[in-house]
Amino acid sequence: MRLYNSLGRRIEDFEPATDNVVKLYSCGPTVYSFAHIGNLRAYTFADTLRRALLWKGWQVEHVINITDVGHAVAEAELGDDKIELAAARERRSVEEIAEMYTQAFFADLDALNILPAHHYPRATQYVDAMIAFAERLADRGFAYEIPSGLYFDTSKDPGYGRLGLVDVGGQLEGARVEQVPGRRAKTDFALWRAEAPGQIRAMRWDSPWGWGAPGWHLECSVMSMKLLGEHFDIHTGGVDHRQLHHVNEIAQSEAYLGDGRPWVRFWLHNEFLQLGAAKMAKSAGPVLTLQELQKQGFHPLAYRMFLLGGHYRAQLEFTTDGLAGAQATLRRLIRRTAALGRLPSVGTLGEARALASDDSAAVAVIDQLDQAISADLNTPRVLAVLQESLRDAVLSEHGQRVVTAASGAVLGLPFDRLEPADVEPAAEQLSQSDQAVVDELIAEREAARTARDWARADALRAELSELGVQLTDTPTGPVWSRITP
Ligand SMILES: [Zn+2]
Repeated sequence: MRLYNSLGRRIEDFEPATDNVVKLYSCGPTVYSFAHIGNLRAYTFADTLRRALLWKGWQVEHVINITDVGHAVAEAELGDDKIELAAARERRSVEEIAEMYTQAFFADLDALNILPAHHYPRATQYVDAMIAFAERLADRGFAYEIPSGLYFDTSKDPGYGRLGLVDVGGQLEGARVEQVPGRRAKTDFALWRAEAPGQIRAMRWDSPWGWGAPGWHLECSVMSMKLLGEHFDIHTGGVDHRQLHHVNEIAQSEAYLGDGRPWVRFWLHNEFLQLGAAKMAKSAGPVLTLQELQKQGFHPLAYRMFLLGGHYRAQLEFTTDGLAGAQATLRRLIRRTAALGRLPSVGTLGEARALASDDSAAVAVIDQLDQAISADLNTPRVLAVLQESLRDAVLSEHGQRVVTAASGAVLGLPFDRLEPADVEPAAEQLSQSDQAVVDELIAEREAARTARDWARADALRAELSELGVQLTDTPTGPVWSRITP
């Protein structure tokens, strides 16, 4: 398995450190609103990574944290607490807000066929451990206290910023960094956010540094170590975490451990989803949620298919046409699968090879799938291999079943658990992408006719007719029209 490690910015061979079990931590949501589809890319990516590791025959222990302590915004130490603001806006308690959006988050993960994490630690349940962690940092001289709380002293960490390639002296000077009175360096960050005089937070805890709340970065260090051990294999998150949140997690964790070893060996980051030209952020106006896509007639797994059509380290431009195209591709694969009958249960490369053993062509395709997913999770290539192998008709039916099941396992797309009707396009959604699918089917049928494969040509005509397309063969080639209901 080859993975791109943000620490060092290069592709490296991956093996778990111990026991054949990969310990994986993914930064989770702050639960004050519905996740927008850009946020969901991070969890789909982490799930793809997890499925690839399982495919290689390892076990995985996965943690996704739930940030139910509201923090202002990622970069800000001061200012209003977002969960408290949401509670005030929606006239609910902070606990109700956090619970409601946590459940909504789980529903999104389920709809995207994301394997449940083994642990979903809530930050509010680890505050004592966070205070103990911060006390040890203070005891070791890595922290100082100012009126707004306890701050990590980044000047004490000679390796500070390595992950983010942060130019401590220069880059951050120009960035939009808030002024915190008494803070010694702009890179120093809050371990504990003390209440301002007269302020009483809705969520507050007593600490050696007064009443207040833990810093945002602290929770991931503390909860990951509690659940996965002091050192673990892989930490994931959106690429926006690479410059700050993960830099700070590393600084405080390595100061806390003090053993001279890297805290986590592999750091993997997914790129953004672009909507129009702007990065999708919760603060940038109306949010596009998975539920909203469903209202527009899209299946949640069409969105998963759309994401898998791009490499996780490439920015992806979200368009309705692109999503409709992904849904049309998914629909075709579901139809093909339905014609194959029941798929075997396949989870790993070893199982797939064993099941395909009588069919050397299928073994070769399985190996191509493996090479693609092992090359830093090249999901577009996995999809291409699957589609080519079904199109070329070189595989036996059994071989096609094994290849389809193996691809489904790697991609997290349960082709045989879906009906074509689940992914029918809504009328208003017929688009250029559907046109492209029709063109492709017609071209395939022409190829089958040229090869005098009449059964296949008939099957493709039937498939077109299911799409509402009527085909007429003329001396100059086929023409088609849409069957009007
Ligand atoms: Zn985190």
